[in-house]
Amino acid sequence: MKRCTRCILAEDFPNIKFDSNGVCNYCHQWDKEWQYFDYEKSEAELMKILNSAKKKRRKYDCLIPYSGGRDSSYVVYLCKEKYDLNPMLVTFNNLFMSEHAIKNINSMVEIMDVEHCFVTYKPKVLKRFYRAAIERGGEFCSICAAGINYAKIVYQKLYNIPIVITGTSGRVDEQSPFEVNCTHPLYVRRLLSSAGFSKKEINDYVIERHFEWGLFEKIKRKINRNDYVEVALPNYVNWNNQEIERILVQELKWTTSDDARDHIDCRFVSVKNYLKNKQIPNFIFKQEKYSQLIRDNQLTRDEALEALNKLLKVESREPDEIDEFLDFLGLVKDDTENQERKSHLNFINKEEVEVHESLSLRLASIPWKIYKVLRM
Ligand SMILES: [Zn+2]
Repeated sequence: MKRCTRCILAEDFPNIKFDSNGVCNYCHQWDKEWQYFDYEKSEAELMKILNSAKKKRRKYDCLIPYSGGRDSSYVVYLCKEKYDLNPMLVTFNNLFMSEHAIKNINSMVEIMDVEHCFVTYKPKVLKRFYRAAIERGGEFCSICAAGINYAKIVYQKLYNIPIVITGTSGRVDEQSPFEVNCTHPLYVRRLLSSAGFSKKEINDYVIERHFEWGLFEKIKRKINRNDYVEVALPNYVNWNNQEIERILVQELKWTTSDDARDHIDCRFVSVKNYLKNKQIPNFIFKQEKYSQLIRDNQLTRDEALEALNKLLKVESREPDEIDEFLDFLGLVKDDTENQERKSHLNFINKEEVEVHESLSLRLASIPWKIYKVLRM
């Protein structure tokens, strides 16, 4: 199989193209965005956003969707220790949380001395949502993503919190192409609707996201001053794995069950990978993560290839957790068959997820932009 000569993406990766040196378009795209990224400039921009939030003197300066994983833990650390913010941490209990994640959350909250809450959606309903997603879409992560959004929006609104800060990184996180993975709310709504859930049941849970707000909602929020901005912290400050690791272990007393230290917050991540592997043979989510780390000089190509080969063997095998998983959701093995025929692509196409701002919205935002420039 032909692979990019710089990262490890293979020729069957969606929309991949190679140049004459065998380097893929994803690597070129990464270079364009990150090779000469100016962290000094971006951190100054970040400080402006954070200071304006502090000036609002709300009960909380920011909301952090907190999974108990490494990136969001580091976000909590930076917000508290470096930026001196008063955060509200919200954890969506997706029913799949690992013991390690819960333990880490509890100790983090204590060490960092921050406010935190677990949000649990009606478990019986949530399990029915998961079942529908597995039976129809061949995956269950989109339901969890909708839940994380649910917890975020409910608490942002409740306390009128001006910023939401996440640890999602365009630089080092895996960026699954649409053909492989989709958590878009439109997909989730259609999937659940096809499974017979009522409009109310769906809309109570799959709340409109920021990018779905229409013109009226945007204006209303601005006038009522309960608008918020979303900040992905790794897009403003350096996100170095080794440094994060050091902070987590030494200062935050973090523990983990495996060396990969990725996604340890979900106890069924192996099932997710296994199902995707049945849907798209030899598809390894981690190949994208590894490729990002290679581009960022945090991993060598040889190390990545070695790790990938190990995963190829593991992820095509049925994971140990599968029986526990099926049992928990009230499913049987047959429900995970015919994976290749199940996909989000049966519910949504690529054009629909691309955000198009309407002309009216663009025109309406002009006075606001002028006002912002004048105020600066
Ligand atoms: Zn590449």
